[in-house]
Amino acid sequence: MPATTQVKSNKANAVAVVFKPVESTADTPAKSAPAIARKPLSKSQPFDISARPWQDFRAQTPIDVLVIGAGMGGLATAVGLRMAGHRVTIFEAVPDIKDVGAGIQVAPNASRILERFGVLDELKKDGIMLQTLSLRRWKDDVEIGRAGLMPAVGNKYNAPLMVAHRADLQRTLLNRALALGVTVRTGAVITAIAEDFSPRVQLASGEWISGDVVIAADGVKSFVREQIAKRKGYQNGTMSTGDAAYRILISEDRMKGDQKALGLLRGVTGSRWMGPGGHIMAYPLRSNKMYNMVLIHPIRPTQQQTESWTSRGTKAEMLKTYAGWNSTIRHLLSYVPDGEVMEWTLNSHAPLPSWVENKFVLVGDACHPMLPYVAQGAANAIEDAAVLTVALSVIGSTNSIDDALRIYQAVRKARGEAIQASARETQRALHLPDGKEQEERDRKIRDSTEAATKRELGAGEKRNPDLWSDQQWQDYMWGVDVMKETLEKWSEIVLAQPTQTPISFSKRVD
Ligand SMILES: Cc1cc2nc3c(=O)[nH]c(=O)nc-3n(C[C@H](O)[C@H](O)[C@H](O)COP(=O)(O)OP(=O)(O)OC[C@H]3O[C@@H](n4cnc5c(N)ncnc54)[C@H](O)[C@@H]3O)c2cc1C
Repeated sequence: MPATTQVKSNKANAVAVVFKPVESTADTPAKSAPAIARKPLSKSQPFDISARPWQDFRAQTPIDVLVIGAGMGGLATAVGLRMAGHRVTIFEAVPDIKDVGAGIQVAPNASRILERFGVLDELKKDGIMLQTLSLRRWKDDVEIGRAGLMPAVGNKYNAPLMVAHRADLQRTLLNRALALGVTVRTGAVITAIAEDFSPRVQLASGEWISGDVVIAADGVKSFVREQIAKRKGYQNGTMSTGDAAYRILISEDRMKGDQKALGLLRGVTGSRWMGPGGHIMAYPLRSNKMYNMVLIHPIRPTQQQTESWTSRGTKAEMLKTYAGWNSTIRHLLSYVPDGEVMEWTLNSHAPLPSWVENKFVLVGDACHPMLPYVAQGAANAIEDAAVLTVALSVIGSTNSIDDALRIYQAVRKARGEAIQASARETQRALHLPDGKEQEERDRKIRDSTEAATKRELGAGEKRNPDLWSDQQWQDYMWGVDVMKETLEKWSEIVLAQPTQTPISFSKRVD
């Protein structure tokens, strides 16, 4: 057995993995990526993710990784794998990675990973640490309840909660990837893959490229997802949620003289207005220079399905939709310039039986497209990246890639799909028509706010119907360290069910 990695089980469930540093040769990334100071690990020291700098984590066997898509999932995966010493190439369809999108929530489950990947400090520069989420009535703007966020959430989960512009997160990850020596090919559309899902992809130019593994981070309209579904004889179906979303950004200069709007822009409170059939999530962005609003509403009878982040809506239609909502909202909506309203329809995607096919693996929206109700799309893509980074780095040879992908699926699939499903549940709770059920929901929100404010013993037992604001669901969404879980699952699953592939570590019980 190669003496490269050992799993050490000291106490009942405590498992630590010992890593040997990758030898630096002329063509290993350790040499070509001077941006990171690498401290070699001593063979005898266990790698404890929470105690040691992540920069110390090293792949046993550097492999050639092909990534499709330079969105959040693709870039984060590339950064993690490259830091561990793998050779990574990204293929991105668009010719220029431009500033697209608006607000994105970087929840603690993502910021914990971004910190280890060396991008959190840069993101913090313009990111906003919201202190509170205020849950409000649609009609009269009355506050129903509040969820305390930073710094309490940061202290509890040992990682901050932030809101940032999607473009800032993408740019930060891209710069990091480039600095580490990831090859990024833009204007590179992958149009075909090997029929047997061996790790080969074809560009529109006809060129074929091979690697050891292909990570498909090609977004909600994933081409690879479709191929996997087809191969498994599975319907790659989408179903309308009945909702559509407007997305707007309002700059400070458009709010001149409106003290209420300026207060929202300059503050550290996010607002969630709940109404019949829809809700609005709003918060300040980019060092409080712009106000971000996502407005979810029922699809119009004649509305076309456009599951695209860049499709436009009309301001007039938006104002009509929210004409009956309170004046704070009506004023805010009036400030957005005509022509800058985005609108797209929200679909549910049936889960796939598997995220893995031979040497292809799906990450991000390609495998768990998230509805925006619990704001976990980017965070879960980043979790995928982190788990793949660990799983593909603990293997002792390319023969064990299948094991790594199996562990990835074991750690991520049920969790990703549970969070995906929770978005659907939240949709119902947030969109209740006025009446008995809505009054009951509001009572529960008030009760849970009160219990949390008074720090009552077992306050978390008082469930908040808005799962994003619910302490128990937050523990699940935000509190889990998936990188640690990957190491634990590795010994639990791979050691418990050894495959024909020899695994390059041994178990030691103290
Ligand atoms: C333009 C855009 C704007 C967005 N705006 C927001 C927003 O404002 N707020 C929010 O919360 N979320 C937004 N999202 C979604 C959010 O980024 C994702 O839900 C989440 O981050 C998951 O990331 P992902 O990497 O799985 O997918 P994405 O971030 O969607 O990235 C997928 C990438 O794959 C590329 N790609 C697709 N097919 C191919 C192919 N065949 N070959 C090569 N490359 C390919 C795409 O060009 C894209 O860059 C946006 C996504 C996009 C694409």
